[in-house]
Amino acid sequence: MPNDAPPVDYRRLLEEERSRLLAELAELGVGEDGKLAYDPNFADSSQVTAERSEAEVLAGRLRESLDEVAHALTKLSTSGYGLCEECGGPIGEARLEAMPATRFCIVHATNH
Ligand SMILES: [Zn+2]
Repeated sequence: MPNDAPPVDYRRLLEEERSRLLAELAELGVGEDGKLAYDPNFADSSQVTAERSEAEVLAGRLRESLDEVAHALTKLSTSGYGLCEECGGPIGEARLEAMPATRFCIVHATNH
């Protein structure tokens, strides 16, 4: 069966993912160091404290995702991209297109 579909550009997908995550972090007001920028005039209201910690949890998740994207880009530049880190088997193309930064095949994804 001929396959004329162009190869998927995973680097582009990963870079788009990184831009999206960085934009979300910027929206949260998180600087390069990962700390939330905030107005000290409002720092002692418990309401603000609650909102801040929520934003910090969200920022933490975004930064973890960014690490995953960076890790995937490294693998793309060296070797191992598209292979499950658990079993070494190939990760399905559809899965990589949906989650270009994933480290695991569908079988092992649920254990991590
Ligand atoms: Zn696997």
